[in-house]
Formats: sequence, structure tokens, C-alpha cells
Amino acid sequence: MLTARKAISVGEAIGKIMSDIRLGDVERMPLNKANGRYLAEGIVANQDVPAFDRSLYDGYAIKAEDTITAAKESPIEFEVVGHIGAGSVFRGEVKKNQAVRIMTGAEMPKSCNAIVMLEHVEEIEKEGKHIIAIHKQIPVNEKVFKKGTEIKEGTLIIKEGARINPGIVGLLATFGYSEVLVGVKPKVGVLATGSELLEVEEPLVPGKIRNSNSYMLMAQIEKLGAEPVYLGKLEDDLEKSYTEIVRALKEVDVLITTGGVSVGDFDYLPEIYNRLDAEVLFNKIAMRPGSVTTVAKLGHQYLFGLSGNPSASFIGFELFVRPVLKTLLGNDQPYLITHKANLTEDFPVPNAFTQLIRTKVKVEGTNVLVSSNGLNISSSITSLVGADALIVLPPSESGYEKGSLIDVLLLSDEGQEECFFIGGVEIEE
Ligand code: AMP
Ligand code: MG
Repeated sequence: MLTARKAISVGEAIGKIMSDIRLGDVERMPLNKANGRYLAEGIVANQDVPAFDRSLYDGYAIKAEDTITAAKESPIEFEVVGHIGAGSVFRGEVKKNQAVRIMTGAEMPKSCNAIVMLEHVEEIEKEGKHIIAIHKQIPVNEKVFKKGTEIKEGTLIIKEGARINPGIVGLLATFGYSEVLVGVKPKVGVLATGSELLEVEEPLVPGKIRNSNSYMLMAQIEKLGAEPVYLGKLEDDLEKSYTEIVRALKEVDVLITTGGVSVGDFDYLPEIYNRLDAEVLFNKIAMRPGSVTTVAKLGHQYLFGLSGNPSASFIGFELFVRPVLKTLLGNDQPYLITHKANLTEDFPVPNAFTQLIRTKVKVEGTNVLVSSNGLNISSSITSLVGADALIVLPPSESGYEKGSLIDVLLLSDEGQEECFFIGGVEIEE
């Protein structure tokens, strides 16, 4: 018999989930497979960038001091004594009033200290000699990318825990990292419960719906960089469900179930946690949608019991599963980024629970404006399409008026270190 559930705040729920979390394992990954993974080591520059003085343009390398008196009316002539492209090095000596024709990226000849761009010289052919004339004074280091100006050897360039993106891949290649240490992707099982569920490819029959949550959740897991494992769907049958969940727990690091976690006649998850002897961290949260969201642990293995309602399930993932997966992956900014915004719609209904409303953020000048993105009920699926943030409306007896300044949580890939809900922002029920 299920005893009455005690609702805790979103902040408390996240606090409980994150209080005893163990980091995941790490593995070496070849650079060409590392995009999207989380670095498990800080990257320190093992050389200067550039590693040598380089020409920034196609032009002529000269000694700047030779151009001191150069002017439109009194150009100075230089004899071209060499010609190098990127990758080549001019080893000769460049004497007074001599120049080396040099292409972008090539190393500066040792005795030169400035570049004149091709477009800024006059080419002269004199007695078979290649001569150029320069019409203005050129400052020292003009158009030279000096050794170490971008990055000095020994600088920490990427912090441990950063998610590798194409720019980081380029940087790692620059420093010669052909492989890097990354967090192992946790295997996250997704198991849908409900006798009403059909597979995606099955035609609709009376009373049934398709299992959309599993596919949505797998996409959310994948987006974070973890490994989704599709575990199918379960009928509302206690014995079968228990057996399947025991089997699933052997296969995955984290198990997400959707549905069956409420107090309905066929909601068997509470009894299954009981049989598993799992530690139920909480089974009711003062939030809508998703108040029945339950999180349990078996040792260090997490069992997320998300509501079956699509929006509740989506939001439950973003609030509770996301920080766990990101932390397991080694990232230290696991929470959704918060931003202030103004409501462009009234939310007059009083609510004892924190409401989370799907929204699409609009920026008008310096104002960030938000309103409900489509149907604001927990079973809505269309409201998730195009939603890029969640409006947070803390409990209120009077509701919220259009124009109120409120907080939104951005559904972006980036994250923040602090959890918005922890630290007194939330009003307790
Ligand atoms: P439950 O949490 O099991 O009470 O389910 C709540 C609502 O979500 C019910 O209307 C279910 O039919 C629906 N639902 C449950 N599981 C899924 C799923 N995997 N995909 C889409 N809707 C679901
Ligand atoms: Mg159900």
C-alpha cells in the first residue's frame, strides 16, 4: 500500500541526486573520434603559437630600418635575393636594401623584421635583376605574426571537462594531440512502460498510442554526449516489468523509465523500487509538470522514474538526468543556464508548485520576451517543438502578470556550474 507522498522542492530534489555522485571512467580516443566527447584532461600548450615568426601576407620580407626615408616622391629600391613559399625557410643573409619574396605563413628570414604586402610595392626589372620600390616607411613587425603572440608555451588552453567541438579539435591538432583522454559515455537505458504503447512503426489501433517518449529521451541523451540504449516497452504487468528491469540494470549505467510511476492502478514502478531494495531519493516534487518524478539509487546506479506525460518526461530529463549524465561525463557545468525574461502573457492561476513552461525566447532590442510555446499541459508534445527554454514560475498565490520579470532556463548545450534551484531562489511549499 502506497503511503502519502511528501513533495520536496526542485532544488532539494536536485541536491539529493547530486549529493553522492561518482565520476565516470575515462578512455583514450583518437582525435578524429573525439568531437562531442568531454575532455578528461586539461590541455596545456606544448609549444608557442605561432612556433616561429611568420608572414601574415604574401609580400616581401625586409629590414624596416631600410625604409626610414621612403616616401611617395623618394621611393627606396630593394634587390630581391630570395623567394620562399609557406613551409620553406630562407637561410641566406638579407643585407641592407635587400628583400625576400615571401608567401603567407612562411617563416621570416632571420635578418628581416617586417613585411611589405605585394600590393604595396612597385615591381621593377633592371638589368636582369629583380628590384622592388617601396614608397612609404614600414614599421618594425609590420604584418609579422610574432612567435608566441597567440599562445605561449605552458598556457592552459582547454580546461578538463570541456566538450570537444570542431574548434577544439583544430586546436588539439595544432598541438599535436593525435589522441586525447575523454570521459567514457555512460550507457543510459530507456524503458517505456504502459500497455497502451505501440512501437513507432505499428499502425494505430483503438486506445493505443505510440511510444514517443523513448525516442525523445534517446535524442536528449545523445545530444548530451551519452550513449542511449533502447530497451523497448513494458506492459503494465508487475512480474514481467520487475524481471525486465532487473535484466536492464545489468546492461546499463543509468536506467530511465517513463510512465508507471504515479499512483494509478497500473503504476508498478514504486513496488518495483521496493522489491529491488533501491533507495528512493524522493517520489514527489513540488513542480508541474512531472510532480510524480521519482529517483532511486541502487548503490551508485541511478534509476530515473520519469512521468509518462511527454512534456513532463522531457522536463524531468533536463532538470534531473542531465546534471547526472554531464557529471558522469566529467563536465562541471551540468545545469541549464538561467536568464531573466519578461512574460508577454498572464499566468493568472495560483499554484502551490513551481511551474515549468516550454517557451521560445524572443529577443527584441535589449528585452528577452517569453510566453507559452503552444499547449501548456503536461501531455503536450507539440509544445516541445521549437522550445528553446523553460519559464520558471515559482509557487504563487496570485499567479503572474504579463510584463513580470521572471527566470528562464535555456535548453542549450552549454551549461552553468550553479544550479538555479539550489540556493534559496525557490520558495518552499
Ligand atoms: P503514466 O505516467 O504511466 O501515468 O502516463 C501518463 C500519460 O503519458 C498517459 O496518458 C500515457 O498514455 C502517456 N505515456 C506514457 N508513456 C508514454 C510514452 N512512452 N510515450 C508517449 N506517451 C506516453
Ligand atoms: Mg502508464
